[in-house]
Amino acid sequence: MDQYDVIVIGGGNAALCAAMAARHRVDKVLVLERAPIHMRGGNSRHTRNIRCAHSSADKFFSGPYTDEEFMADLTAVTGGPANVDLARFMIRQSNQLPRWMGEHGASWQQPLAGTLHLGRTNRWFLGGGKYLLNAYYRTAERMGIAFRYDAFVEDLIVENDRFEAAVVKSNNGGPPEVIRGKAVVVAAGGFEANLKWLEEIWGEAARNFIVRGTPLNDGAMLANLLKKGAKSIGTAKAIHAIAVDARSPKYDGGIVTRLDSVVFGVVVNKLGLRFYNEGEDIWPKRYAIWGGLIAAQPDQIAYSIVDSKTVNKFLPPLFKPYKANTLEELAAILGVPVSAFIETMAAYNRGAAGNSNVRMQVLDGLTTTGVTPPKTNWALPVDQPPFYGLPLAPGITFTYLGVAVDECARVMDTAGRPFKNVYAAGEIMSGNVLTKGYLGGIGMTIGAVFGELAGREAGTNAGS
Ligand SMILES: Cc1cc2nc3c(=O)[nH]c(=O)nc-3n(C[C@H](O)[C@H](O)[C@H](O)COP(=O)(O)OP(=O)(O)OC[C@H]3O[C@@H](n4cnc5c(N)ncnc54)[C@H](O)[C@@H]3O)c2cc1C
Repeated sequence: MDQYDVIVIGGGNAALCAAMAARHRVDKVLVLERAPIHMRGGNSRHTRNIRCAHSSADKFFSGPYTDEEFMADLTAVTGGPANVDLARFMIRQSNQLPRWMGEHGASWQQPLAGTLHLGRTNRWFLGGGKYLLNAYYRTAERMGIAFRYDAFVEDLIVENDRFEAAVVKSNNGGPPEVIRGKAVVVAAGGFEANLKWLEEIWGEAARNFIVRGTPLNDGAMLANLLKKGAKSIGTAKAIHAIAVDARSPKYDGGIVTRLDSVVFGVVVNKLGLRFYNEGEDIWPKRYAIWGGLIAAQPDQIAYSIVDSKTVNKFLPPLFKPYKANTLEELAAILGVPVSAFIETMAAYNRGAAGNSNVRMQVLDGLTTTGVTPPKTNWALPVDQPPFYGLPLAPGITFTYLGVAVDECARVMDTAGRPFKNVYAAGEIMSGNVLTKGYLGGIGMTIGAVFGELAGREAGTNAGS
């Protein structure tokens, strides 16, 4: 039976980086991607940028971003990474990514309008993640890496802590195919598309989650590794989830379904009540908590309310906002109880009375008084018709629960020993770095750094 040197499971950023790094060391590398060819690339194809440390500005970074500053930012959002040594390693290696990625097909562009605040810390993919992934696939094909699409890996054969083969489900009801390899890199994403699994954690609320990325990241490989004795890391409830338009497709809507209107007005739940400080901090630092906040509301629905002063101030939404000349009419259109909604808006507007000249780029301290919850920045009254309402739902991006890895990206077992030739990269091991919170662009950093590491180590292991 044919045997590969390295088998890579998955077809996103982490998998492709692993496959290319492995191919620099060994001849026979196979990528098993569950998606059909037109959907290849997982969540990575939805991305726009990557966070990298660097010592000076260049054509694409507007200024330096040191390892220390990256670490301080990561510590601030997570409260400390689960594995500090791995986080430090990742940050150090991220300095090399623009060069390594460029050598493997990546092209860059200046930050897009509306994202300039990330221009110092993050680097933008020319053409977005879809182009990046297509470029990687082209490079990988040129390097002689083999690909199989529609290849759902349902099991790994592991004997005495050693990977022997991947078991690929048949697409026509036949027996599964067993593909042997000397080492394996599992880069099959998290379990964010598995609503049943999410329901075990979030209860029925999970049924109303919108999955922003691929429907194929169901965590089958994560569950398989955990069942085989891999040590888990991170908590099941730790996720990245944002506010998306509740009218979005259930899966794979991508970046355009995100709504950035929250800080420009107020947000009410289906009872017509405000439930959180919309002006707590600048949007890039707070957008990733709104998915969780909405998940905790009745029926997991909320409404962002703005008026004619601010409706054109945020990135245009995918779907038109609901529009009305009075707040009463808007309440009726949105289906929220009119009297409660009017009372909420009146209380908020009293608290914000007299506020004007907001400065959205800074914490301007333009706060409400006497309202609970307060809005502590940019609290303009919502009083200038027409009024607009945008329905918000929790949009899950990815999950952090994963498998623990060592400094070679080898999967650890529950006794703290590494499997001999099983490696993991990307979302499936993001819990080693991310405990809670999120830093924009770090998902791709995790995939690229640990993908390259896992592929290099797996290649060296298979070649020895
Ligand atoms: C809309 C959106 C925008 C985002 N924007 C950014 C951004 O700008 N910057 C950033 O850093 N992060 C961003 N992220 C997060 C980022 O996409 C992920 O962190 C990153 O892509 C994860 O890479 P990965 O290779 O681990 O997983 P993925 O790219 O999701 O790849 C997983 C792969 O595994 C395959 N697979 C799953 N199960 C199996 C199986 N059993 N057998 C075989 N194959 C399997 C899937 O088909 C897929 O190809 C965004 C996410 C979304 C949804």
